[in-house]
Parts: sequence; structure tokens; C-alpha cells
Amino acid sequence: MFELYGQDAVKRQLYNQINKNEISHAYIFSGNPGLGKKTLAGQFAKAIFCEGQNKPCNACKPCLLVNSKAHPDFKVIKEEDKKQLSVETIRNMVRDIYIKPYLAKKKIYVIHDAHTMTAASQNALLKVFEEPPLYAVIILISQDDKKLLPTIRSRAQVLRFLPNKREEVLEYIQKNHNIDEKYANFIANISEGNIGKAESLLNNPEYFSLRQNFIESLLCLQHEKSHCFGIAGFFEKYDINFLFDFFSSFLRDALILKVLGDELRLINQDFSEKIRAFCENVTAKGILASLNLVLDTKAKMTQSSKENLWILELLLNCWEELHGESHWSQV
Ligand SMILES: [Zn+2]
Repeated sequence: MFELYGQDAVKRQLYNQINKNEISHAYIFSGNPGLGKKTLAGQFAKAIFCEGQNKPCNACKPCLLVNSKAHPDFKVIKEEDKKQLSVETIRNMVRDIYIKPYLAKKKIYVIHDAHTMTAASQNALLKVFEEPPLYAVIILISQDDKKLLPTIRSRAQVLRFLPNKREEVLEYIQKNHNIDEKYANFIANISEGNIGKAESLLNNPEYFSLRQNFIESLLCLQHEKSHCFGIAGFFEKYDINFLFDFFSSFLRDALILKVLGDELRLINQDFSEKIRAFCENVTAKGILASLNLVLDTKAKMTQSSKENLWILELLLNCWEELHGESHWSQV
């Protein structure tokens, strides 16, 4: 069977096609990065080539060739900079596809970042989609299948990769990483059903301590306004996407504790006592307003436009909301 956590519906569909020998000529694997599209495309290709019983068996010659990236009939098409798949790359692939397979009955192409194909690239590919050689299988990996031409989409099977269940992500983390249960829960919650995201956070050595330090600083929002300046300093030094995630999860947790009092629903369970104490000094209305401010600011900002004034304004506004005061500029 396929070695991938979650995505059961997609795995089942592909497995049935292999068992019935009903492989399509073209697939679109669509969904957010980190959900296993490329992994499953590689395993599906391996299963198509596999000569063993339980496909992919990982023991037969074709399986071993795919594992060592040496199968001559399995090709991954990608651009190093990932920004745009050029028409030249696609034309080269189209030329290659008409050369018969060397070893297998099928010749399989996986095109990474297919949503970055220009209209010219897609038109170059369309020719193959209209009249594919019998042995050809093309798998387009795409974050957004709507960016592909309708003529491409209509000739392919679109398989949508949805976020995994939280329990699946947690199970994955616990099987693969030896970490504290509460932190595992936090990662499972913050990664929004995305095992790839969970894995990249767990492999980032800075992430754990950054979160501890940043949340400790956010807790100071219950005290004097001057703490806003210290918190703003984080945004000059660290990844603002991480910081916004921490900030919104912190406020979300504060709101849950303030309104429902339910610790089990917290993202930051390891901070429950401190967040509970924080809630005693601020209003629910203020927490909600702050959460909205954080989400609005996050939507406006990107890593490339680090506007520290926006962050400071955000923090001061949050402080005002949390303490039910009027706008800071009028004080
Ligand atoms: Zn095999």
C-alpha cells in the first residue's frame, strides 16, 4: 500500500485503478503544499511499474529503480526556481514522451508546480493531452487546479488533496518525533491538517524557543502599554508568518478560555494556566477585537514588507482593546 498518512480517499481511488489496471493518461493532484501530492505521485508511479504482489512492494527491480531515482521511464519535470514552468521545458518533455519506454509498459511524467505553467506552456502540453501515446501517464502537481486551462482540466482526472484530520497529524508526529505530548498537540493544531507543515516546523530548531519567548512576551500585554515596544522587536528579527500564527493562536486560546473555559480546546495547552491568568486582566470583547486586528494585519503584510510601524500600531491597538481604552493617539 501507499506509505502516506491520511488522504485515504485519493489513495483508495488510485489503488483501485492499479488493481483493475485502469490507469488514466492524465491526472491533476491538486491541493496545498505539504499534503503529500509529490510523495503520492512517486508512489503511484512505483506501484504502476511494480512487479510484486502488494504494490508498491519496494523490493522488485522497478521499485528499487524508482527509489534510487534511476528508472528510465519515470521523469520528474520541474524548474529550479519554481516560479514558472517555461514553454521550453514543456516542449522538451513533449518531444521525449513520444520516445517509447525503455523498460516498462508505461512511461510516467510528474510535473511539479503545474499551476506555474504559462498559457503557452499549457498549450504545448495540450497536444499530448489530446492524443496521448498509449503508454503515457502524466501527473500534474498543482496548488491550484483552477489556474490550468479548462481544456487541460477536462482531459485529466482531478484528485483533490484535502487537509488531514487533526488526529492523523498528531499520530504522525507521535510516531516520528520524540517530543512532549502538549507540544505535539500544539504542532498538530497549528499545522492545520498539513503534515508537511508540521514536519517543517518540527525540523526548525528556532521554532520551539521562538514560540516560548514570544508567547511569554504576549502575556505582558495584560500589563503596562510599554511592553508593546518589546513585542514589536520580535517582528524585526524573526519570521513574521510564525509570529502571526503564534499571536492569533494565543488570542484564540484566550477567547476560548474567557468565554468557554475549556482547556482541552486550546492550541497552546502548555500555556493554559498563564493564558487563564491573562484573561482575568482583559475583556472578551477586547480579545476578539485584537484577534480581528491581528488577522487583518497579517493579511496586509508579507515578509518582504516589514513595516515595523504597522506592528507597533497593531500592538498598541490590541493593548487598547484588551484594556477597553480609547485610541492610543488620543491619550
Ligand atoms: Zn515492486
